Amino acid sequence: MRAYFLASAQAGALASRAWRTSSSRAAARSSAFPGFLFGLLGWRAAGSDGAGPAAVASGAVSCVLTPEQTEGPYYIAGEKLRRDITEGRPGVPLLLRLRVVDASTCRPIPHAAVDIWHADALGVYSGFGSGARSRTFMRGIQRTNATGLARFRTVYPGWYRGRTVHIHVKVHVAGNVVHTGQLYFPDSLTDRVFRRKPYSRRPHRTTRNASDFVFAQGGRRSMLKLRKAGEAYVGRITMGVHRS
Ligand code: FE
Repeated sequence: MRAYFLASAQAGALASRAWRTSSSRAAARSSAFPGFLFGLLGWRAAGSDGAGPAAVASGAVSCVLTPEQTEGPYYIAGEKLRRDITEGRPGVPLLLRLRVVDASTCRPIPHAAVDIWHADALGVYSGFGSGARSRTFMRGIQRTNATGLARFRTVYPGWYRGRTVHIHVKVHVAGNVVHTGQLYFPDSLTDRVFRRKPYSRRPHRTTRNASDFVFAQGGRRSMLKLRKAGEAYVGRITMGVHRS
């Protein structure tokens, strides 16, 4: 397996160190907030002149390789290139900002194809079971821009038996799959969202993050960072991948 993992705490410390090397007064003030700094890691690593192989080798910057996780049984290849993948299906709006960086250099990877798929608010995948009539809802592809960012408009996924709430993702670079993973949500937020319709039609989800067999294999490093924006949630993550 080509994956290696940095413990979150270690990565956070490296992020703090990397940030401090930029040594502006504002940065020094900000260093009092490690969470804030950690959130900035992807941004700084992607945007700074100090990034690059030399900076990585010297330990000045470090990126976390996002864990590889199973694609599961519901992948369909060749989906549509589109930002809004909902096809009008109901749910709490979710805007995704998925950034792809090279885990070796911390630099953004532009023109990568980010391919996502997930269950709808009722826990149904298009192409399977009661969703078999359509092979496209809650599936789509976006290209990363110059800063490595791919954006999607979807809804908060529902749950299905035996799995915690998740979004599947593949990253393709130059026609090769360089990453297959899953993205996760804090259970406390999911509990809050699931009190609303249409999620509330299906109470008693079976599985939470702590009891999910896939989440157990690195899921803590694939958590979306979420914030509320009006009626919607915005979920963001930086995915560190190897180009080959
Ligand atoms: Fe799934």
